[in-house]
Parts: sequence; C-alpha cells; structure tokens
Amino acid sequence: MAFYTEAALKAVLKDRGLRLTPQRERILRIFQTLPQGKHLNAEELYQLLRRQEELEDAPPGRQIGLATVYRTVKLMALLGILRELELAEGHKHYELNQPSPQHHHHLVCVNCHKTIEFTNEVVLQICRKQAESAQFDMLDCQMTIHAICPEAVDRGWPSVLPEDWECPRSGWSRDAAEFS
Ligand SMILES: [Zn+2]
Ligand SMILES: [Zn+2]
Repeated sequence: MAFYTEAALKAVLKDRGLRLTPQRERILRIFQTLPQGKHLNAEELYQLLRRQEELEDAPPGRQIGLATVYRTVKLMALLGILRELELAEGHKHYELNQPSPQHHHHLVCVNCHKTIEFTNEVVLQICRKQAESAQFDMLDCQMTIHAICPEAVDRGWPSVLPEDWECPRSGWSRDAAEFS
C-alpha cells in the first residue's frame, strides 16, 4: 500500500509492461495535490483537467478525453495506486491509496453525502491478517459506514429527501420508506 509516488507509479506500470504516459502523470499529479478528504469522480477529474488545459492553453494533442480519464482511473485502481470508493452518491469516487498514517475509512451520510474520514489501526490489522491468511496480497482495505447525519435527522429525515431520490445501493426509495 505505498504505490503513490511518481517513481513508484512508473515502476508499477513498467512491471505490467505499461508506460507512464503524460496523461497518467497528469492524473496522478492532480490526486497528489488534492486536499485530504477530497474525493473525485471521473467526471470531476475530467473537469479539473479541462480547466488546467484552458489555463495552459494546451494544444488539442495534450487534451485528455473523458474516456481516457475513465480508463486511467480504473487502471490506477487496479494497480492499487488509487482507491475506488463506493460512497453514497451512486457513482465511484477516487482518491490516492495512502499507507499509514494517512490510510483511512469513511463515514458517509446517505442523505446529504457528507463524508467524514477516520483512521483505525485495528481495522487495518484485521484486513491485513485476513488477506495474509489466504495468502492474498492486500492492495487496500476500506470500511464504509453508511449513516444519517444529525442535521438530516433534525430536518425530519427521510422526508427531507427529494421526490425522485432513490438509494443507489439497495433500491431503497422514498415510496418504500413511507410504507414501512
Ligand atoms: Zn477518503
Ligand atoms: Zn447528512
């Protein structure tokens, strides 16, 4: 769980017969400069790249397409460089896969998607032991706690949900909640 520097990325890619293309390098750099606690989905990452390109007046050849962004984050997640997060928003978010002490888990409000990061060495040890006992090479271990924040409860959750809201995880919907 330490593949997060440029040199490490280069080595990991080379191992798999892949190159550190300028696109991969740019994407990695964005994740490296992201403030702790910020997670990006592919679309947001794409928008950040576009803004960079506009600022730098990049020629068309240097621009990254959305399909490449999707492919690259997938690849980096497969290699253990990025973590793919299944938070409550229904689409995947990414962040750097960091070793301890930055390695962390997420507490997510399923109503407003507010996310709190927390570290827990015990969880990490359990995961490591579990992987080792099966002789698996652990790339990452994530605990996601799906919860309701106190603000949503104060506002009368689940009635604060918009009419068309549907839980992306379980097919839970407002209609179903009203009948239960
Ligand atoms: Zn995080
Ligand atoms: Zn909330």
